[in-house]
Amino acid sequence: MPKAWMGKFLFVDLGSGSSWTQEVPDWMRSKLMGGKAFGAKLLTDLTPAGCDPFAPENPLMIMTGPLTGTSAPSMRGCVVTKSPLTGTFLDSYFGGYFSPEVKYAGYDGIIILGQAQEPVYLWIDDDRVEVRPAAHLWGQDALEANAAVKSELNDETVKILSIGPAGENRVLYSLISCEYNRQAGRGGAGAVMGSKHLKAIAVRGTNTVTIHDPEAFRAAVIQANADLEKSEDVQAMRDGGTAPAVDFANETGLLPSRNFQDGSFEKASNLSDIGQSKHLWLNSAACLGCPIRCSKMGAVRTGKYAGFITDIVEYESAALMGSNLGISDVRAVAHLVKLCDRFGMDSMSTGGVIGFAMEAGERGLLESPDGISLEFGNVQAAEYLIRSIAFVDNDLGKLLAQGVKRAAAALGGDASAFAQHVKGLESPAWGPRGAAGTGLAFMTADRGGCHQRGLPAPLEVTGGEWEGKPVQALAVEGKADMLIQMQNYLAGTDALVKCDFGGFGVQPETYAALLSAATGERHTADEFDRLGERIWNLTRNFNLREGLNPADDTLPKRFMQDPLPSGPNKGHRFSAQDMAFMLKDYYSLRGWDQAGRPTEETLKKVGVQDLPKFEKSS
Ligand code: SF4
Repeated sequence: MPKAWMGKFLFVDLGSGSSWTQEVPDWMRSKLMGGKAFGAKLLTDLTPAGCDPFAPENPLMIMTGPLTGTSAPSMRGCVVTKSPLTGTFLDSYFGGYFSPEVKYAGYDGIIILGQAQEPVYLWIDDDRVEVRPAAHLWGQDALEANAAVKSELNDETVKILSIGPAGENRVLYSLISCEYNRQAGRGGAGAVMGSKHLKAIAVRGTNTVTIHDPEAFRAAVIQANADLEKSEDVQAMRDGGTAPAVDFANETGLLPSRNFQDGSFEKASNLSDIGQSKHLWLNSAACLGCPIRCSKMGAVRTGKYAGFITDIVEYESAALMGSNLGISDVRAVAHLVKLCDRFGMDSMSTGGVIGFAMEAGERGLLESPDGISLEFGNVQAAEYLIRSIAFVDNDLGKLLAQGVKRAAAALGGDASAFAQHVKGLESPAWGPRGAAGTGLAFMTADRGGCHQRGLPAPLEVTGGEWEGKPVQALAVEGKADMLIQMQNYLAGTDALVKCDFGGFGVQPETYAALLSAATGERHTADEFDRLGERIWNLTRNFNLREGLNPADDTLPKRFMQDPLPSGPNKGHRFSAQDMAFMLKDYYSLRGWDQAGRPTEETLKKVGVQDLPKFEKSS
């Protein structure tokens, strides 16, 4: 057994209360490495085709990578399941300390199946695994439940994943909270956890992750830290987290404003790093062993919301809960995001849903509830909607808890024209009009509209270089090739479960050196691209098997029908011809047929065809 992996998965069946371990097969380690790749293969093999995401058979999996729990910088954790929001593959990442603890408890991943009859929590203390009653925790918010489990276990150092009322109520974009300020946010993993009546997972481990060649590993860690220090992107992240992106997106016309009606917002600077630092930040914080320290823990210091502890309002939340709702007071935005965190809802999707509801209200498609006016800029309305959605205790909450795609279908009329989603996942905070490759990225992302599967936008709107040539923002030629390279590398390194921000600095050669020294096996810089290509074919196959229609490889109608009203991209929208050109190019370069299906030849070439099926033993 090579070092660095723990060599086994922990399976828990909540239906029977039983648990067992299974060896990680050699072929999985050598062909798939860990993280996203393990999750994609296990989801395919363990889930019956067409499985309801809320069925007991849909596994909820927490995956680690071979470098998790070592001193390699900037590693995170990964949740994989079938998304109830999109019906597709879902991988969602979280920082903090939980994922290393899974390794210290002796596991490369935890795979939870079945459905408990009553609320439970899972207590994993090295080899000891207990399914404990949690009726007394049901109804608590995600942070209260975290504290309550720690108190019950009489150990403040136990690491916890928990859900809030939204997950219990199966709000389709519920998140899983990791400790107090990290979340696996996108796609509804919290609702899957809620469907299993699983309130929390607590883990404590006393093992160590062994390293094959400690000297070589130490040298590789020094190199990784040097890579991070050299990167301007990483330095910016250290200074201001992701919040400086508010100004960047605003200046380049990418910022969502009032449900993506515009690409700039008149008070964007209030939401940026400088705007936030005036009212919120106190100090930096980090996930285990990360030298970037992108978190800016603090407290709201002034105004109506003064007094509560908050993390940085990171870019996606600042944009989607701020400018996208026409709200410019960053203290109010921090308050709304904190409500989402406590109730356990993805603040990105929630911002998208509320933006949709506010526009529907202004168009007269939704009536104002309880005398609250559904209009942009109304913080009270946003808070009302968050509570209604989390507790699904009124008709509007029930409607919006399903996400914008389903809500628009239920409303009818022209509601789908301003429902901002791809494949059901609410759009990330980057309006792609004026950045052609970014549109293609959203069209093709394997979990629906997503900015973390390759984001050409910064290169496109700044005229940056790709392979020695300047990138033209509106050009469609060459975008598929550029995007595929980005997608493959990111997916390949997601098998490591690295943090994307660390990936801004750490070079592929350094990741390979870390892996080689840790495992004792030879790894090379170019294998992440090959592994990524394998992963993209695995997830595509899974999505097609689950009913994905390639016609869903598209963009929200607004990006095709409504020209941007202002900013450097003023007047631009996506044409059907441009989208068809890029998609055809994309399918062809991926080795997929004209309907977007991987061919037999491609599956063989990338090594998907020959992978054995993973069989669970109980
Ligand atoms: S960069 Fe930020 S999110 Fe990423 S590992 Fe470091 S502290 Fe965590």
